[in-house]
Amino acid sequence: MEFNFIKHLKGLDNLPTEPMNHYEQGSRFFTGGHLGPQINDKLEGYAAKGRWSRREMLKTATGFAAVMLAVNEITGMKFFDVDKAEAVERDAAEEKFILAKGGNFVVDQHTHICWRNDGYVEGVNTTKQGMWFVDLLDGLGKAMGFENGIRDMTVENFGKVILEESDTDIAIFNPFGFREDYGGKDMVPIEEQAEIKQRWPDRTIMMGGGLTPNQGVGETLDRLQMFVEDYKIEGLKLYTFDSTPKKGWWLDDLERAYPIWEKCQKLGIKNVGCHKGIPFGQFMARYAHAEDFDRVCDDFLDMNWIVFHSAWPYHEEIAALKMFKPQRKNLYSELGSTFAATVTNRPIDCAHVIGTLLRDLGEDYLMWGTDSTLWANPQWQIDALRRFQIPNELVEGHGYPQLTDEVKKKIFGLNAARLWGLDTSTARVKLADDKFAGIALNGKPQNITA
Ligand SMILES: [Zn+2]
Repeated sequence: MEFNFIKHLKGLDNLPTEPMNHYEQGSRFFTGGHLGPQINDKLEGYAAKGRWSRREMLKTATGFAAVMLAVNEITGMKFFDVDKAEAVERDAAEEKFILAKGGNFVVDQHTHICWRNDGYVEGVNTTKQGMWFVDLLDGLGKAMGFENGIRDMTVENFGKVILEESDTDIAIFNPFGFREDYGGKDMVPIEEQAEIKQRWPDRTIMMGGGLTPNQGVGETLDRLQMFVEDYKIEGLKLYTFDSTPKKGWWLDDLERAYPIWEKCQKLGIKNVGCHKGIPFGQFMARYAHAEDFDRVCDDFLDMNWIVFHSAWPYHEEIAALKMFKPQRKNLYSELGSTFAATVTNRPIDCAHVIGTLLRDLGEDYLMWGTDSTLWANPQWQIDALRRFQIPNELVEGHGYPQLTDEVKKKIFGLNAARLWGLDTSTARVKLADDKFAGIALNGKPQNITA
């Protein structure tokens, strides 16, 4: 995450909720956006037909389905696969949500914890800029039902909301570095993030981060080696903006960055990603652009490069890096926070982002991510993508592929399974319907060639 959703979405204040009730969480995000007042009007009507209050309905699957139906009706476009009956009959929606579960092996490419043992105290171990980010996470957590905000974004709750309470099979852990802003210590120190791997070794993959080459290439390489040898990280998630006087760096910097990739090759680290897009806070937006992936993809063909957030709202840049270079096979993107922010509030934007990436980057290279625990329980996002589709008008006018069940399976988990070598037979939610049989939920990960 890293975008002030609290200011962006107006209707979320003063409505305490429960992070385990993902239906209500999802509905509240929709009704907090600019479509909110119109959605609420529609909901009054559906609730009256179902003979309960809007507030009561919003705590249920029916409420979440009703919100999606309202968006279809208001926009006049079919963004969500939802029937009228689901908004009125109490069990219809729940049944459909449950039926959809069996079809997917779900890998969340983008997950975090945000709290650390010694906390964040401005002027002591946290700069003003560092505190700005802490406050942002704190507000988002509270809006999503974490009573103590960022203090609830812990190892414990990572297990609870992501691994137990959602359909996520495997969570890929993303670190926060930013040592410049947090007293010379990573915002989430490696020894604390390692607890996740120790507790859930089969359900998590650990990425390392916190490499700031502007603080010295030698030190950066030593830290990388320590992460791999002492903590067995399996990939890297980095940030190209930083709080040093230089303010940032590029992945294709021959002097400051290439030694890192060469060392990755020696240490056996193949998957490297970077936050792009969502140019938050006081960080410089130029470092959130993605063109530095172009050269590293070509120069390090044996490595995979992952654009986090799909660089939204600069996603067309990464689409161009593949549309005009179709030979490229090692550029991936993921949807963390980008899907959550757009689907609830700007569904046309959401369809354009996904449509552009499917058309140009390709259906084998787009991966699921939620940025939870920032958004507490990720289940509402999973349910929303299961229902989401690219309306025909946009498919026709832009040449977008349809967002079919088969394509969703790749986005939800098969692409990540190929990238990380995961066994898809570990899917926790088994097949619910014959139509999903033979897709990939038994045996080894499928070798999907592009
Ligand atoms: Zn993130």
